[in-house]
Amino acid sequence: MDPAIRDVLDLRAQLPFNRDRLGARFTPGKGRPAPSPSSGARWLVLQDQGLVLEGPEGCERLPVGDRPRALALEEGDALYVGDFDGEPVFACTMAKDAALPAGWRRETLVPMQGARLAHELCTLGGIALQQVWWERTSACCPRCGERTERIEHEWGRRCTRCAYEHYPHLHPAAIVLIRDGDRALFARRAMWKPGLYALVAGFVDNGESLEGCVEREVEEEVGLRVKDVRYRGSQNWPFPSQLMIGFTAEYAGGELRVDTRELEDARWFERSSPPTALPGKMSISRWLIDRYFLT
Ligand SMILES: [Zn+2]
Repeated sequence: MDPAIRDVLDLRAQLPFNRDRLGARFTPGKGRPAPSPSSGARWLVLQDQGLVLEGPEGCERLPVGDRPRALALEEGDALYVGDFDGEPVFACTMAKDAALPAGWRRETLVPMQGARLAHELCTLGGIALQQVWWERTSACCPRCGERTERIEHEWGRRCTRCAYEHYPHLHPAAIVLIRDGDRALFARRAMWKPGLYALVAGFVDNGESLEGCVEREVEEEVGLRVKDVRYRGSQNWPFPSQLMIGFTAEYAGGELRVDTRELEDARWFERSSPPTALPGKMSISRWLIDRYFLT
């Protein structure tokens, strides 16, 4: 098999937040009527960008039952997400500052905040985050402002006045590892923990190809030109609704010039002395760094 294709397939199935990671264990709820929560139902209880779980650290599990104890759910609060290991899975939310019942803990799903849950739980939690975000942001028609309603057996929603239909909005963003021989370009944003460097990334613009997005973002953020832009794989990124599309590119010229509106710093690092802190193993950013620079 072409090594580049093998890498793409590896990435699809190995990184969390890609539904591929769940394989045949998960079936999305789209296209089927939502069941009522039963005694075997599992719950993805979201609080902020974290997942609320039962059990001690290291043995966390999703709450199970027709209604998780201590959750005051209203009719319609439970969103059917799909089936996992043959049992229906529902998503619901708790207020950001609500106290958790004894024996429950919240674990962040955000890799940049140190997510450490098993990939399966992160992926299920990510699907739930996106579904809840979509439900919250799609209640009104983006064209005329009237109330929308769910299109039967779809995630999409239809306006009750003008019949405009819209579907979950994913925002494509390109992320790129720029190489120049034994060095690669890393960038950091001011909000990140000290010492952490990652890759140049940005949202695709109107009328832009992915490769064009890479070239523009690199030029805007660090003033460089790149060539040989190659697709390496993608990762769904549910914070709240990005699709990260990963590339490598080779340095083609230009002087390093940091756009300080976007970045705090950017610099070349040699392979023998990479940044002291890198993005978490769960991210496509780290995947690109590990696979195409540090090995
Ligand atoms: Zn409308």
